[in-house]
Amino acid sequence: MKKLIISIHDVTPYFLPELKVIFQELDQLKIKKYDLLIVPNWDKKYPINQNKEFVKLIKKHLTRDSRLVLHGYSHQSENKLHQKLNGIIGPSGAIEYVSVSEKEAEKRINDGLKIIKETFHVKPLGFVPPVWVMSMGMSKILKKYFAYYTTYFTIHYFSFKIRSATLCYTGGEIYLFDKLMLFLSSVRARFTRNKVVQLAIHPDDVRIGSFETEIKDLKSLLKRGWQLSLYEDFIK
Ligand SMILES: [Zn+2]
Repeated sequence: MKKLIISIHDVTPYFLPELKVIFQELDQLKIKKYDLLIVPNWDKKYPINQNKEFVKLIKKHLTRDSRLVLHGYSHQSENKLHQKLNGIIGPSGAIEYVSVSEKEAEKRINDGLKIIKETFHVKPLGFVPPVWVMSMGMSKILKKYFAYYTTYFTIHYFSFKIRSATLCYTGGEIYLFDKLMLFLSSVRARFTRNKVVQLAIHPDDVRIGSFETEIKDLKSLLKRGWQLSLYEDFIK
């Protein structure tokens, strides 16, 4: 059976209007099974516990079928060059877990888990680094806290891994990248040979207008018998 993991990225009060659109569509399709990739304090300006409407929206969609997954802490790189090149060579301003030391990275994981626990009373079992990029040493740190983490083509469960293409419909609000990602993902949705595929829904997709195509691909995958799953369904 082919498995489809819906991962909703960049779950933060910063994207509250776009998240409402995403949830409205999924509610309408009666889809409840998805992983919510939460960013505890976007840009260090949007802590999740400070926006009541956001907390209410997420609590409503945090059911027995859905899970919270830690997705960075601030989702921003601390590196000046990354910031400067952001939007020129891809979303470099978001590679948070390359720009900080391992000690700082671990502190951010602890801070993130703490604020999530206080706000939603759950502990995420997984980690997805912003833009799927992190430094080499991160894996051994993540092993202490999580049951899995993901990169763009692989879900790592530490003792084993699953090859899994990601369908991503945004290139970081850079027109040509956006169009290229949309094209590649739509092709991949039709022809992938992977048995597990991740559909990455970004609030950006709503902003740049690729959300409709994405939902069309989602419906087509479901029609062809792909079965919705969560990352943690594969933990052995
Ligand atoms: Zn992200």
